[in-house]
Amino acid sequence: MEGFLKLYNTLSRQVEVVASVPGNFGVYCCGPTVYNYAHIGNFRTFAAVDLLVRVLDCAGYRPFFVRNITDIDDKTISGARTTGQSLATFTGKWTKIFREDCRALNLVEPSVEPCATAHLDEQIDLIGLLLEKKFAYVRSGSVYFRVSSWKSYGLLSRLSERELLMGDGNGAEKENAGDFVLWKASKESDGEVRYGSPWGEGRPGWHIECSAMAMKYLGNNFPIHAGGIDLCFPHHENEIAQTEAATGQNLAKLWFHVAHLRIGGEKMSKSIGNLYNLNDIREMGYSPETLRYALLSGHYRQPLNFAVGSLRASSRALGRLRQHGLRLVENAGEMPAMAEKFEIFSPLWEALLDDLHVPKALGLLFSHLQKATAGGYTASDARKELSEWLRLMKVFGFSYPVEKFSMQVTTPEEIVAIAEARKRLREDRDFAGADALREKLLGLGWSIQDGSGGYELARLSD
Ligand code: AMP
Ligand code: ZN
Repeated sequence: MEGFLKLYNTLSRQVEVVASVPGNFGVYCCGPTVYNYAHIGNFRTFAAVDLLVRVLDCAGYRPFFVRNITDIDDKTISGARTTGQSLATFTGKWTKIFREDCRALNLVEPSVEPCATAHLDEQIDLIGLLLEKKFAYVRSGSVYFRVSSWKSYGLLSRLSERELLMGDGNGAEKENAGDFVLWKASKESDGEVRYGSPWGEGRPGWHIECSAMAMKYLGNNFPIHAGGIDLCFPHHENEIAQTEAATGQNLAKLWFHVAHLRIGGEKMSKSIGNLYNLNDIREMGYSPETLRYALLSGHYRQPLNFAVGSLRASSRALGRLRQHGLRLVENAGEMPAMAEKFEIFSPLWEALLDDLHVPKALGLLFSHLQKATAGGYTASDARKELSEWLRLMKVFGFSYPVEKFSMQVTTPEEIVAIAEARKRLREDRDFAGADALREKLLGLGWSIQDGSGGYELARLSD
């Protein structure tokens, strides 16, 4: 282990040392509802969780990362109906687009990305258990969780009893307004989206999917459960109640919540018309990496105000990082292996280990760059720093600039462009297409090798 991570736990309202666990370290993040483009607020949460996973990985925790796809809810059902598509075709399309956006933002692929419709049995079993233990009841074909039967309801969100029991207005037949739905009886507007259950045809409520999938892939009492702050109540409170009532064990040890992205000081919302997605950012002339930088640059627990000016500043900052990477590559004369621990950047790494303090880490990074600009590098100093630089850029998810510039020192842009296109095809599992590009490269006099750290291009001798 290279140092322990400290994180704020919403459950205890304290910054805690995160203990490692034997084997894999489970992290669950509530994923997107796939009915439209994810907006950049969603991506703030996913980028912060991405940084968390990268820091865990770098520190030696061996993260096993699960992020679900919510493919069944009112919005996906109504989207499928409006477009005349089946639910699977409709959500499949939006899932694919979401994954493309994640790749563009260089978000680490989850170890598992389960979706709700593929885990109906697990959800039905969990609801069955709750009924058996009398934590739930059936009314008109729907099943509800009886909040009054779960004494520690509210422990996570710490809302007042009045707020906790206010309810969402749905389900007039409930015993109490604050009870929440586990299984929804079919209604007219669900169309063909209906599944069989011991309580009749219907579909699962939203909260139960995360409990069922988290438990299936991570067991009980797993290390970290993550999501945007708006999910703390009711979603996460309900996840805890369902799982813990059914199993008698804790769902997760630490609850990690990301504060919201705001636009011009306002909440992002459809009605205000200030919702942006990744394509909007591209249309403004900024790259996904620039957005990634902008989203990561604030502390994850502070609301982040987004403005076009912050993209401009992020683009400049990334430019300086690229330039420094390039300078190290040129001075080093060769690509060293990635460092196994930080020495030069150890204060910066400590800042990341301290509740992911990105603003402090970036401050240290840029003051390092300022000092470095003043002095020169010997080849061996440059190699040492470059080896740590590679590790640091991997933690931030900005390894790409170094890769790109290190190749551009010796490789024509046209060849790099083909290699990058081939990499994207391989990521999309289009191996035939990737092979065709390998042939094309060979024809142009370049061989390409794939390794764990990416590809390597080599000029064929004449
Ligand atoms: P959804 O697709 O609505 O289920 O949301 C996916 C994730 O994005 C959840 O973790 C939300 O908490 C998070 N989220 C939604 N809006 C924002 C926002 N403005 N800023 C940060 N995270 C958000
Ligand atoms: Zn969830």
